[in-house]
Formats: sequence, C-alpha cells, structure tokens
Amino acid sequence: MNSLLKVSLQIGVSSLRVNAKRQIACLASLPETHQMLQKTLKDFADAELKPLAGKHDKEHLYPAQQIRKMGELGVMGITMPEKLGGSGLDYLAYAIAMEEISRGCASSGVIMSVNNSLFLGPLLAYGNEKQKQTYIPPFTAGERVGFFALSEPGNGSDAGAASTVATDHGDHYVLNGTKMWITSGYEAEAGIVFATTQKSLKHKGISAFIVPKNIKGFSLGKKEDKLGIRASSTCQLIFEDCVIPKENLLGDPGYGFKIAMQSLDAGRIGVAGQALGIAQASLEVACEYAQKRNAFGKPISKLQAIQQKLADMALRVEAARLLTWRAAWLKDNKKSFSKEAAMAKLAASEAATYCSHQCIQVLGGMGYVTDMPAERHYRDARITEIYEGTSEIQRLVIAGAVLKEMETN
Ligand SMILES: Cc1cc2nc3c(=O)[nH]c(=O)nc-3n(C[C@H](O)[C@H](O)[C@H](O)COP(=O)(O)OP(=O)(O)OC[C@H]3O[C@@H](n4cnc5c(N)ncnc54)[C@H](O)[C@@H]3O)c2cc1C
Repeated sequence: MNSLLKVSLQIGVSSLRVNAKRQIACLASLPETHQMLQKTLKDFADAELKPLAGKHDKEHLYPAQQIRKMGELGVMGITMPEKLGGSGLDYLAYAIAMEEISRGCASSGVIMSVNNSLFLGPLLAYGNEKQKQTYIPPFTAGERVGFFALSEPGNGSDAGAASTVATDHGDHYVLNGTKMWITSGYEAEAGIVFATTQKSLKHKGISAFIVPKNIKGFSLGKKEDKLGIRASSTCQLIFEDCVIPKENLLGDPGYGFKIAMQSLDAGRIGVAGQALGIAQASLEVACEYAQKRNAFGKPISKLQAIQQKLADMALRVEAARLLTWRAAWLKDNKKSFSKEAAMAKLAASEAATYCSHQCIQVLGGMGYVTDMPAERHYRDARITEIYEGTSEIQRLVIAGAVLKEMETN
C-alpha cells in the first residue's frame, strides 16, 4: 500500500469505528481517516488520472498503469481484510474512494468497482478459506483484476432467467453458455460466473463458480464499442464444455442468485460513488469555465441563468452524496441497506446525467467538442443509469421496500 495512504489510515483506523457512528450518524462531517483518504485520492486523481482520461477514452486504452497505482494506494481491495492483502476499510471509505477515482476517470472507476464489490466482495462473503487465500490477495494489488458474469444476451434485468448451464459430473461441473456485457472481460484473470445447476428450481437453481481465465473451453467473444467508459473493456464470455472443478463452486449449490443479488446491493453503493464522481467533475468543469468565459462584458458566472444551473447541479450532487454515505454507513453498521443503496444509485446516476448535461450547456460549443472533458462526462454518466440494475429496477426495489414498510408499520 502507498506509504502516504498507509500512514493516513494508521492514524485514523483505530478511531474509525468509534468516530464513524457518531460523526456519520449526524452527517456533520467525515471521520478524520476518511477525510485523509479523500484528500489523498483527490490529489492522485488530479495528478495521475485526469490528465490521461481523455486519451484513454479516445483510444479505448485500458489504464493498466493507473490501475496498478490504485492497487499501490490500496483501493483495489479497499474493504478486504489486511491479512488478505486489502486495506481493511469500510464501505464509507469505498464510496468516497469510488467518487474521487471516478472524478478523475470514470473508466478506472468501473474497473475498481467490479473488482471490489462484484469479484472480491462475494469471495470474501461466501468463499471457503482456500478460495479466499487463493483468489483474494493476488487481486488486491492492481496487477490482476476480476470480473462478474451474470448478464447474458437473453437476460439482463431478469437475471434469474439465466440460460448458461453447469452440469454436475461428480467431481466437476461442465459449463456451457454465453455471458454478455462483462466489464474487464478482456483484462481480467478470473471471475465469478453464474450458471443454472437445476433448471426446474428457476432462480433457486442458479449456482456461482470461480472461473480462472486460462481454463479450457473458456474464450472471449465480441468486444463492445461503447458510448462511454471506453477505457474499460466490455465483452462476451463464451463457455463451451468448460470443465470447472467442484472446488470452484462458490457457496452452496443453488445459492448463486442470492450471492448475485447481495453483491449487487453492495455494488450499487460503488456505482453511486462512480456517478457522484462524474457529477462532481461536471460541476467543477462548469464552474471553472463560467468564471473565465466572458459574454456581454462580464464572466458568464455573473449571469443568473448560469448561476441557477450551477446551484441545481450542486444541490443534486450534495443530496446524492448524502444518500450514498448513508447507504454505506448502514452497511458498515450491519443494518438493512438494500432500499438505501438503490436510492443512492438512482439519485447519484440521475445527478450525473443531469450535471453532465448542464455542464455542456454552460460551456456552449466548447461543451460539445473533445478539447474539454464535458462531453466525456456526458457519455460516461449514461451507463450509471443502466448497469447493476437500471433506474427502472432501482425504482422497483425502492417501491417494494416502501410498501413492505407501510404494511409492517
Ligand atoms: C458497459 C456495460 C457494462 C456492464 N457490465 C456488466 C458486468 O460486468 N457484469 C454483468 O453481469 N453485467 C454487466 N452489464 C449488464 C447490465 O447490468 C445490464 O445491461 C442491465 O442490467 C440491463 O439489462 P439489459 O441490458 O438486458 O436490459 P433489459 O433487462 O432488457 O431492459 C431493457 C429495458 O426494460 C426495462 N425493464 C426491464 N425489466 C423491467 C421491469 N421489471 N420493470 C420496469 N422496467 C423494466 C429496463 O429498465 C430497460 O429500460 C453491463 C452493461 C453495460 C452496458
């Protein structure tokens, strides 16, 4: 771990648990540890991510060097225990880290979030000791990243309808099927794959498997040419009579759907952080430009029409940030957080779309060209309303929880 971050964390980690409850509960300020983390990552993003984010996006280049540095900083396994190579921090720290990294480069943000909450997260929660020892430490340093393969060509939101099949052959399973939209599919060295082991049980017949990349019968399919987050790869994974040893089953047979849903609940806090980073970056670009650009003899920041836009952007960023921190705080304190994570993801992703849209408007023509980052933020924002559950699905989760609360109260 980077020495600066390590020193910062050592100072604060002992007081973290005590302070977190008191300070976050009233949302007055962040604990000292988290403030130091935020500052360290803000400086890192300004120096190492922002300057290259446009080039990586334009050339569809995986930011390997930056991801390695993020590993050195301790954010590629930020919530993993220190004995497994992680930083041993909480989800609030993760949400803050996701915002700061994504403020600099949203593609690096998604690579980080998939590795943290969708690959390492389920391994820590459901892996046996051998699986944890084998797969967690090598994936916390930024040298290797993991994937999470749930979606398929025929089903995304309806994840329980998986058609990828794992047939039980005694000491191994044979995997057949195609996964689609898999983040980091090209670069990842292992991942979690969800497949049906007992079709008649529908979603209760889905199991989760740890699948290394170099296994026979596993190949990469089409790499997608995307609107945004273009420095991260998204591709199909193809399994043709792929032999998976039984020891690679994650959790019990039939637990896959539960593992996937729990991972996505936590993952939504990460995507909310990513969206916040994009929204915050858009607000910063708009403010900076508005103060420099003159029209009718004065900076456009003096025009009330522009000020209204900046105010509405700032309002949405702050509101979404509080929801995101609250969801993280609930998870850290072992309280139910599914509804709050859905609210955070919904609010933050809509804030990202709104702020990046308004940012282009504030910049006028300069917002529309690649000389400025506004158009990239606009393209990057859009995905946060789609993956790890679309906005429509978040609303279903929220409404379901609200109705249940009404019934029980
Ligand atoms: C860049 C990118 C990266 C991704 N990374 C990953 C990854 O790493 N791993 C992975 O497993 N998946 C990944 N995904 C897949 C992503 O999670 C799905 O695209 C998403 O869940 C939506 O599924 P879908 O595309 O099949 O849309 P569909 O499910 O077909 O939905 C289409 C539309 O119908 C709406 N809809 C569907 N059901 C309902 C309903 N019940 N009520 C109301 N509206 C509904 C949706 O909201 C949407 O507007 C990624 C996708 C993209 C684009």
